[in-house]
Amino acid sequence: MGVGEGSGRDHLKTLSSDAALDFYEDVRHRLPASTGRGDCHGCANLSQLLDAYDVFLLDAFGVLNIGDEAIPGAADRIAAIQASGKRAMVLTNAASVPSAALVRKYERLGFRFNAEDVVSSRDVLISALRGEVRRRWGVMADAALQDGDLDWLDAVYLEDRPAEYEAVDGFLMLGSAGWTENRQALLEAALQKRSRPVWVGNPDIVAPRHYGFSVEPGFFAHRLADRVAVRPRFFGKPFPGIFEESFARLGDGLDKCRTIMVGDSLHTDILGARNAGIASALVAGYGFLAGKSVPAAVARTGIAPDYVLERP
Ligand SMILES: [Mg+2]
Repeated sequence: MGVGEGSGRDHLKTLSSDAALDFYEDVRHRLPASTGRGDCHGCANLSQLLDAYDVFLLDAFGVLNIGDEAIPGAADRIAAIQASGKRAMVLTNAASVPSAALVRKYERLGFRFNAEDVVSSRDVLISALRGEVRRRWGVMADAALQDGDLDWLDAVYLEDRPAEYEAVDGFLMLGSAGWTENRQALLEAALQKRSRPVWVGNPDIVAPRHYGFSVEPGFFAHRLADRVAVRPRFFGKPFPGIFEESFARLGDGLDKCRTIMVGDSLHTDILGARNAGIASALVAGYGFLAGKSVPAAVARTGIAPDYVLERP
């Protein structure tokens, strides 16, 4: 999820970070395999990595912001990276709004990113949709937040009408604001009756907000896959497509040895970076592991970043 995506509609529930970590471990068989381990070198903040890296791929929730608020000092730190001639790109699993809306929202929080420097899992999913056979999609997302980039698609925004779940030829899970247990039950029943493609624009289980962790589309997709015979197709971290999209945008500027992913989630940011063959830094003081033991989480998951930062 990205910043400021709420339209006043609540998320169904929250999870503790311990419960979210357990959930991620339970669904590891659907995530990419972990490749190698970093040595968890401790650093105060990103400024200590400036000499070693030229490209900083930044997670949003937990690195730039918590919910709708910027992390104190993050905007100045990112501005300093940009001013030193290094490239800072956002790599986000935000899928409930178009990335153009994300650029505007980051700007409101004090960050300055060009459109080509914001890579969202939604963008990667839409690219894949354009190459797909034409079908009618049922969409999990708040229709009020949609702003143009899916207008070309034959789609219905799913609410509480069972016939719409029955009629569509596939499902897109983009945003969980406004999603309810009733809608999840309708989706499950429809897929039990007739299997269809399920594409997931946000593989996250949770996102850090000021009130705790909201439950995100990945949570509902994995729950679905546990109960009915569907194999969801995931877009976004830790899956390779979003990393490949950022590498394509970097073009000749890509040197994997000088590129680092910075994030607060072992199972998305760090696992994805290791799988993509780039360095990784875990932000420990904010987001997923704030107040938790990083060594315990690393030992439990076997996912080890190259660096552990106290703050972005
Ligand atoms: Mg995050």
